[in-house]
Amino acid sequence: MAHAYLFEGDQGTGKAELALWFVKHLFCLALQENMPCEKCNNCLRIASQDHPDVVEIHPDGQSIKVDQIRALQSELTKSGFESAKKVVIIHQAEKMNTNSANSLLKFLEEPPANFMIILETQSLGKILPTIRSRCQIIHFQALSTKRLQSRLEAEQIPAKTAELLANLTNSYGKAVEISKDEWFNEARDAVIQWFNYLEKNDPQAFIYVQKKLVKTFKDKTQQQFAFEILAYFVKEKRNQVMRQKQSGLENYNRLLEEVLSANQKLEANVSFQNIAEQITLHIIFP
Ligand SMILES: [Zn+2]
Repeated sequence: MAHAYLFEGDQGTGKAELALWFVKHLFCLALQENMPCEKCNNCLRIASQDHPDVVEIHPDGQSIKVDQIRALQSELTKSGFESAKKVVIIHQAEKMNTNSANSLLKFLEEPPANFMIILETQSLGKILPTIRSRCQIIHFQALSTKRLQSRLEAEQIPAKTAELLANLTNSYGKAVEISKDEWFNEARDAVIQWFNYLEKNDPQAFIYVQKKLVKTFKDKTQQQFAFEILAYFVKEKRNQVMRQKQSGLENYNRLLEEVLSANQKLEANVSFQNIAEQITLHIIFP
């Protein structure tokens, strides 16, 4: 086993879960077919983050500070551990500032005996190359849309919602978080209503932008979300029209094109209201 691992992948790809599993595997007193038993004293204490030989570090505010790394070092060189093994998990390792990273690097160059460290990050590019080269890097892949959808359904999220969520993110954790947010239902319904107006060339679509959308989608992240939700529904409808060889495919193609370019305009600081109104005008009065 290597003594330093770097787990790299998007949020929700299971990095933290695997890190815990790994540590349990290392400490478990009664492995069952090479799997942690989840019942012994060690497994239970690791699960409740209460094992004295397992140290987890999270960013303190915006960064992992050099003091946190120093405290860790003195902790690890102290005697009096329960077992010979010591494990450190550093979450969001990209948040180490230069001092912290350099301090950690010195430590990695001369690690204590029976010591293992797991760094966990969503942005591999922000980890110092000198640290990267001392770790065994393990890449975590996002779940496919279909697999994510079925995992969400297994969590009692209704199929239609699960499908929408799986199309909006490829992170399981993020999807569950969104599904619990009351705002999400309101946001989805608002977009569906707007889409209904657009489909019928109903001029209310225009007023609806100001009356409802601007109030529902306040910040940029929410506004991007609005266009992503709309893109999802337009794609769905477009596929249905194609499958059933219905008329109007051209209109859905046009709408999809408009919606897909909306987020670029948002990035270029065009206001959400402007973009939404433009889409409405282009669709209703082509
Ligand atoms: Zn166990």
